[in-house]
Amino acid sequence: MPVAAGTALVLGGGIMGLSAARALAAQGWRTTVLDQDPIPNPRGSSHDQHRLIRHAYGAELGYMAMVDQAFAAWDRLWADLGTSHYVPTGVLAMAEAPGGWLGASRAALRGAGHAVEDIAPDSLPARLPMLAATGLTDAFLTIPGGVLLADRILAGLLRLCTTQGIRFRQARVTAVDPEHARATLADGTTLAADLLVVAAGPWLPRLLPAQPVRASRQVIVMLEPPAALRSAWEAAPMMLDLADDGGFYAVPPVAGATLKLGDHRFAPSGDAEEPRAASPAEAEEILALARRRLPGLDRYRLLEARACHYDVSPEERFLLAPLGARGWVMGGFSGHGFKFGPLLGEALASAVANPALATLLPAWAAGLAPPPPGLLPSGA
Ligand SMILES: Cc1cc2nc3c(=O)[nH]c(=O)nc-3n(C[C@H](O)[C@H](O)[C@H](O)COP(=O)(O)OP(=O)(O)OC[C@H]3O[C@@H](n4cnc5c(N)ncnc54)[C@H](O)[C@@H]3O)c2cc1C
Repeated sequence: MPVAAGTALVLGGGIMGLSAARALAAQGWRTTVLDQDPIPNPRGSSHDQHRLIRHAYGAELGYMAMVDQAFAAWDRLWADLGTSHYVPTGVLAMAEAPGGWLGASRAALRGAGHAVEDIAPDSLPARLPMLAATGLTDAFLTIPGGVLLADRILAGLLRLCTTQGIRFRQARVTAVDPEHARATLADGTTLAADLLVVAAGPWLPRLLPAQPVRASRQVIVMLEPPAALRSAWEAAPMMLDLADDGGFYAVPPVAGATLKLGDHRFAPSGDAEEPRAASPAEAEEILALARRRLPGLDRYRLLEARACHYDVSPEERFLLAPLGARGWVMGGFSGHGFKFGPLLGEALASAVANPALATLLPAWAAGLAPPPPGLLPSGA
């Protein structure tokens, strides 16, 4: 039997909380978003100039398929915003060993009918003059894929939510009771609703320590390329470089944003409350991963180095599940959740309204099952 819309509390104003709030409000839920910080929150996982979206997902066929559904959800958001915050760049993947993630991605992509252009590593520097082919054994390019302008997306979502009548309250939640859809604030007040959604990003382990999620401190560096390479970088694809020492990813400086480098590996530790400033040694760890691939990296100007936190779950599978009688948890996004934010918000709102979907949603969100019929808008 469908569940009637009532009042909803959404804890967290990152991409997940805002997307869920928006989709719930569209279904008639009278929704309040709680966040300890101003939104968009510079301490949140979602806040940065950019995030990447790509189909290449190794052997994870579920998440690869979900990317098509995610693109459709972004298109619905662009239509509501009246503008797109997506810059298509294509995706260049490179590896220093045959097979592995590249091999699995190539097989999965081709199996699903996506075009994959194999590239002889030695030919790469002629196409992309910022690169050296040293040690590379494999490379491919896929299109579509590109850059989501995260800070502009959050600002736009916030505006849409406000227009929808969603209320925002800045307050730190010290405890949640999903059984009764209650949240206790730092000043001792308890708020109650018919539904509680916990979308606390890397703070999740602090609020719900029994959930299998931990925070991981990830350092990113923002760079200005030398003038001679500037236009080549502006036209470059996003890059995934996989090496034995972990490799790095590069987000090209599109739409006025900066070039960003980050690390594929998870940090062994982290806490969402720790400072975001990164030390010179932490910045150097990222630069060291890229030095072999980006010759002359010391001629790039280091604009900023800072930390951002992932909420990591076992096998990097999302946790989108009912919690107690009146709660839902959205977490475990493991550094790859942003691209799915609007899609997961819509899916959550559908499942909240329909208990039959609620039992099937977690397996789909974990990348282990196709979307149950009726979960996504038709045509998605
Ligand atoms: C450096 C980096 C690069 C990434 N790259 C990509 C990428 O290329 N592609 C991709 O798809 N994904 C990427 N991700 C992952 C993606 O950004 C995250 O999965 C996603 O943003 C998580 O969103 P969220 O809303 O769950 O968390 P957040 O954005 O962290 O939002 C959670 C909010 O909850 C609030 N909150 C928490 N606890 C409390 C409390 N007790 N009381 C009140 N408020 C509270 C916080 O203040 C915060 O604003 C990346 C992440 C990082 C850090």
